[in-house]
Amino acid sequence: MSTQIIHCPNCGSYAHRRHLPQLQIVETACPVCDYLLVSCGKTGKVVESYIANMRGKESSPASRI
Ligand SMILES: [Zn+2]
Repeated sequence: MSTQIIHCPNCGSYAHRRHLPQLQIVETACPVCDYLLVSCGKTGKVVESYIANMRGKESSPASRI
C-alpha cells in the first residue's frame, strides 16, 4: 500500500491518494474539504465519489430551507 500526496481537485489543498492493489482501487481523500474519490486502479473508472461542498465552517449540516 502506498500513499501519495497530491493536490485536491476540489479545493487545491494537500490530499492523500492511496493505492490499494488488493482491491484494485485508488482512493483520493482530502481532509480539508471532505472530498473523497474512489476509482478503479485498473480502468480508472470512478467507483465512488463524495464532495462536501462546504466553503464556510460555520454552516450547519442540519440547516434546511
Ligand atoms: Zn479538498
